[in-house]
Amino acid sequence: MKSSLLPGSAAGLPYQRLTINPSLSNNRSTVALSIPDQSPMERFSKHHLNVTQLCEQSWCEIKVVYGFLKPHMKRREMRRTAVMTGASIHLARELEANPDAVNVVVHTREDREALKLINLIQMVPALEAGMVVLISHLRFPVLGVLDGVFFLGVVDELYCSKSGELVLSELKTRSHNSLPHPAQAKGHSLQVGVYKLLFDSMVQGSMKRDQLLHYLKLRPHQAFGSELQSYAQKLGLLAVTFGELVDHLLVVLHFCNLQPIDKLCLEYRHQSSGVLIGNREVEFKETQLRAELRDYLAFWRGEREPHGVDIEDIEEAWKCRMCPYEESCEWRRSRLQEVMVEGSKKAK
Ligand code: SF4
Repeated sequence: MKSSLLPGSAAGLPYQRLTINPSLSNNRSTVALSIPDQSPMERFSKHHLNVTQLCEQSWCEIKVVYGFLKPHMKRREMRRTAVMTGASIHLARELEANPDAVNVVVHTREDREALKLINLIQMVPALEAGMVVLISHLRFPVLGVLDGVFFLGVVDELYCSKSGELVLSELKTRSHNSLPHPAQAKGHSLQVGVYKLLFDSMVQGSMKRDQLLHYLKLRPHQAFGSELQSYAQKLGLLAVTFGELVDHLLVVLHFCNLQPIDKLCLEYRHQSSGVLIGNREVEFKETQLRAELRDYLAFWRGEREPHGVDIEDIEEAWKCRMCPYEESCEWRRSRLQEVMVEGSKKAK
């Protein structure tokens, strides 16, 4: 038997400890949504977070937990959303921006991360040139520590506007031919805001070699695989180990002329036709964003319980109808019971 913490209790306490029966069928079984003395970072063996994980979290934290506890259902949903979210539109855009893109075979985790850093090293001078003369489209890896947690992300597009502003733009596809509801757009705004925090701190020289190696758990002396070595040589890079590449990247970032991002944009396209629905500019409110970030990270550090969808809020409740865990969701079931009890009390 395991224990589970769920919201609400008849005694009016903030959380109720439940006993669960693991012998129930997979769909209906209850699972521990949180474990005392073990943070989600520890429980799910996370050394760093992807920015997109924060966006998922802003949708529903219980869903994030289920994603780890029921990975087969998460994989099924990811396959479905890869089709629905217009992966082909992203790919077409990428090929349009980088017609000479090549595939490089990677053999180790160090190879895979090195490839991202090589892309970054290549893009810095291109972006510097773009700042002066033209609009350029690039996918740009961003990484660094925010509030004690290491983050990784990949920016869809960075370019210089005609007026010389450095613009970060994220492409989103929609099944409906309309701009998203605020509840849907919340994660998108969070995503571009966190990208800006990471990018700005990178170009301001905040990235540290030891942090990068420590949080990503990478071996600095690991030599690249032969394919990656040839690719790096063709680009004129002398590095043959991950540590050497990190050193090179830090020098590039230290001496680059890139400025912080001026403008954050979201571009919405219709997923089946690819037609532009509209653009939205996101206001960057750093103090508010950092406060939100601290609250999201409090969940990962185990400083508070995960929060699910507020099923009484009409602006939020619809999320559960789209959720693959709806049938088995302990949070939702518990909240529904509470609402029913409250409703029957009022009726008396
Ligand atoms: Fe979150 Fe609702 Fe899904 Fe439960 S059913 S995980 S509350 S979205």
